[in-house]
Amino acid sequence: MSSQHEPAGYRQGRWKEPPLLERGGGPSRAATLPEEDLEGLVPVTLRRTHLRWPDVAENVVVRHFTRLSNRNFGVDSGMYPLGSCTMKYNPKICDETVWLPGIAAQHPAQDESTLQGTIGALYEMQTWLAEIAGMHEVTLQPAAGAHGEFTGLLLIDAYHQDHRQTQRDQVIVPDTAHGTNPATAGMLNFEVLEIPSKEGQVDLERLKGAVSDRTAALMLTNPNTLGIFERDVAEIAAIVHEAGGLLYYDGANFNAILGKCRPGDMGFDVVHFNLHKTLAVPHGGGGPGSGPVGASEALAPYLPIPMAAYDGTRYYWDTDRPKSVGKVRSWQGSTAAVLRSWSYLKCLGAQGATALTEVAVLNANYLRAALEGTYDLPFPGLRKHEFVLSAQKLKEERNVRALDIGKRLLDYGFYAPTVYFPLLVHEAIMIEPTESEPKEELDRFIAAMKSIATEDPTLVRNAPYHTSVSRVDEVNAARHPRLSFRMEHPPSP
Ligand SMILES: *Cc1c(COP(=O)(O)O)cnc(C)c1O
Repeated sequence: MSSQHEPAGYRQGRWKEPPLLERGGGPSRAATLPEEDLEGLVPVTLRRTHLRWPDVAENVVVRHFTRLSNRNFGVDSGMYPLGSCTMKYNPKICDETVWLPGIAAQHPAQDESTLQGTIGALYEMQTWLAEIAGMHEVTLQPAAGAHGEFTGLLLIDAYHQDHRQTQRDQVIVPDTAHGTNPATAGMLNFEVLEIPSKEGQVDLERLKGAVSDRTAALMLTNPNTLGIFERDVAEIAAIVHEAGGLLYYDGANFNAILGKCRPGDMGFDVVHFNLHKTLAVPHGGGGPGSGPVGASEALAPYLPIPMAAYDGTRYYWDTDRPKSVGKVRSWQGSTAAVLRSWSYLKCLGAQGATALTEVAVLNANYLRAALEGTYDLPFPGLRKHEFVLSAQKLKEERNVRALDIGKRLLDYGFYAPTVYFPLLVHEAIMIEPTESEPKEELDRFIAAMKSIATEDPTLVRNAPYHTSVSRVDEVNAARHPRLSFRMEHPPSP
């Protein structure tokens, strides 16, 4: 809460700090480059005549970034229950793997003989993921889930073209799908058929009515966005296959099924992983993710090249795949993201990976059971790794919306859950605790959610009070983003 006793230049107890570029002009610098050392190293024509570079001392730099990091919230600060995004704590050993000098300094164009460790680990990862998904082969190239969807639909399209089924131009997507599913299908010029769900699951009658000889594929997320495992998944697969369509498994929610069941066994032809969600890759800041794609035996010939391969004595990049759709990403994909996830799996082992799923599902249901009396739970019953509450009643009775609850949670030291998604739930609050949260943190979250439901509505509507910034103008920020930095107070020379 802002106070009238705050000294000038401070806001909410914090010094309003100018950006580093506007600092400097003092006598000290963190480092200097002797002019003569540049002679011969950088040709004069390539040198800048002036560089807008802050002249600041080392302690100024360190304090600046330390203070900035304290204003941010991340999985290292506390629970981050952002449903659908799976913001788990990433063990530091996964980062240490990719910081090893031999890995950090390598270049993908190096001779294969000098990359045996890396290609070997990638090969192992391809093999593990194929086993986990029940698929024939896996490519590690795609950079994220949406890119995996794109790659997967390329395979499906290539398969239909190859089998002279060129009329298959429709992709069926349930209304519980993530927005990337219809967007991906649209990007590949498929017509998107959306089918409404029934009690939060695929409506079999609607699906039967939608399939035809124009069906290229059904894209299904399982468990779906509501955290519900599709009860009729085998029948869904049969309906689509009988119509000559293929089955795409959106594996973003793999942390609910890892080691328990496999898309391949459910009849699916293609599946993508989101390693940054299911395993351990820091994400949320837009850093590189990884969206490996698995294909059944029939679709594997179309997978992108190169693949990591092993001939019994050495690892190598295999480009011999005549029907391949080609390359979807430079080099071999986000290798550092794959190696972080490889480390996580290595630490867990097969038993640990199954326990991951069990704890993720247990944590979600622990929260759901504790909160469903205070908030509404559309479609009752058990969930997998996440669940969606509705704040509709709170909105009607107290004029407190899902957005207000999310903002108020920030004051309690939590990141906000996903709100207003999925679209089929009014005032949706989508919560995913992940496997990494201890019981005390879950209990603290339950107490916060219950407390917010009874707090003074005006207080909740104006939250947060204890963050670096309070409510921001989100519409203006989205419509008129200012993406370039303009120096307002240049440092004195
Ligand atoms: C996150 C997500 C995606 C998209 O994955 P990105 O890695 O963000 O591109 C697709 N489908 C579902 C169900 C998701 O949760």
